[in-house]
Amino acid sequence: MYDLVIKNGTIIDGSGDDGYVSDIAISGGRIVCISKSLDGKKIIDASGLTVTPGFIDSHSHADNAMTDYPDMIEKIEQGITTSVAGQCGISQTPIRVGDAYKTFADTVNEVKDIPMGANIMSFVGHGTIRQAVMGFDNRKPTDGEMAQMELLLRNAMESGAVGLSFGLIYSPGCYADTSELTALARIVKEYNGVISAHLRSEAFELEEAVEEFLDVTKATGARAVLSHHKAMYKANWGKVKNTLKMVDKAISEGYEVYCDVYPYTASHTTLISTVIPPKRRALDNDGIVELLNDKEMRKIIKEEYSSVYGDDLSYISISQAANHPEYEGRNICEIAKENGEDPFDTAFNIIQECRADVHVLKFVMCEDDVEAVIKHPRAMICTDSSVAKGNAAYHPRQRGSFPRALGRYVRKKGVVPLAEMIRKCTSMPASVYGLKSKGLLKEGYDADICIFNAERIIDRADYSDSTKRCEGLDYVILGGEAVAKNAVYTGLKKGGFIKKEA
Ligand SMILES: [Zn+2]
Repeated sequence: MYDLVIKNGTIIDGSGDDGYVSDIAISGGRIVCISKSLDGKKIIDASGLTVTPGFIDSHSHADNAMTDYPDMIEKIEQGITTSVAGQCGISQTPIRVGDAYKTFADTVNEVKDIPMGANIMSFVGHGTIRQAVMGFDNRKPTDGEMAQMELLLRNAMESGAVGLSFGLIYSPGCYADTSELTALARIVKEYNGVISAHLRSEAFELEEAVEEFLDVTKATGARAVLSHHKAMYKANWGKVKNTLKMVDKAISEGYEVYCDVYPYTASHTTLISTVIPPKRRALDNDGIVELLNDKEMRKIIKEEYSSVYGDDLSYISISQAANHPEYEGRNICEIAKENGEDPFDTAFNIIQECRADVHVLKFVMCEDDVEAVIKHPRAMICTDSSVAKGNAAYHPRQRGSFPRALGRYVRKKGVVPLAEMIRKCTSMPASVYGLKSKGLLKEGYDADICIFNAERIIDRADYSDSTKRCEGLDYVILGGEAVAKNAVYTGLKKGGFIKKEA
């Protein structure tokens, strides 16, 4: 007798093939039989429902789950059974501790036996490595520093990192030139790892930024993922059509290039990286807070910003402000008006008063571009989100990305067929990230499974309340047991840290 049988569901197995009605038997946390008329100790009647592999969040910032928040409720309640964290150049380690380093391997040893609500794997962040070795210095590494960075990268790759992520708009990752990225990517390739990049520009120099990352890919042959691919600000809308052609060309030349995308037209990032130009960010956060005391410097920054982006900040709303919770959910121009200030001064004041700990929503993308990226055959769905940010003004992608992909972009807008969308949520990220027993509903595979109503599934989280659960997701099963029912976490911790297999 099997542990669990899911009966009469329409099985969409993750490969991209269309669905078929059958039963799935699970024992010992694995799928052991797919056939009709199976019987088990427990039965889930999935008549009229769709049964798919558990979703894989191809670009996640759930790093804090490993140490602070192992439940990962925001993941599991939208069907995500595995997250790929450590993205955008930022991982928990390595960090400098006195004269030594706390390494990626140290973190793996700390977290590898902690039970978690969902599975997590992690990149090592290039920005994190660079900061550990060189602080926030805006210069090329010395030979000795380069050797140290390589050592820390090898340590991470040998202890199960997925690969190396770049965050080329964030300090200090943005100070690396292409040759530094290439030298490190070469090591990643030795370990059959992945390189991912928050590109150097997602706006006015988007094409140049894609070209740089594709150059690194071609020079090293490493499998590559363009992170949260998009074009920001109206003047750049439509550029993704060009960049996706660049990706297609690289693929036709034999390179393994992918991208990930969250299905929304607003981004979420720090206020600093939004209003302070990169060349002024050659400082840590305290340095920037200090810099903004200088009235002349405020003027210069405003001019530098306006010459590129214009002087309208009305696309920015505050999602989290450490010392100003009353600003959360509010547009920066509204706050400025209320305070009788120039919006730039409001932004600078908030950065100072919150000691740089301010995150914002930026309404800067267009729907056509989001659809064009989702449609691309190498695009995977992601949240680009952390966990345990429970405030209502956080980005709704934290709660809604996957149900939204299925409800809005499959059912309502018909951007891609359901089976193709499921592939983008399951087997594609599984193959990119080397998850050999996940991403497909096949005998022998892990029993990580979503069961939902394809006519009903939809996100409910929005920009006014990002904490709302989705609808239409009946079951999330991880390791053969139900970890969410009707999108509510059951409290079972069946997940944990996954090392990338060699
Ligand atoms: Zn990013």
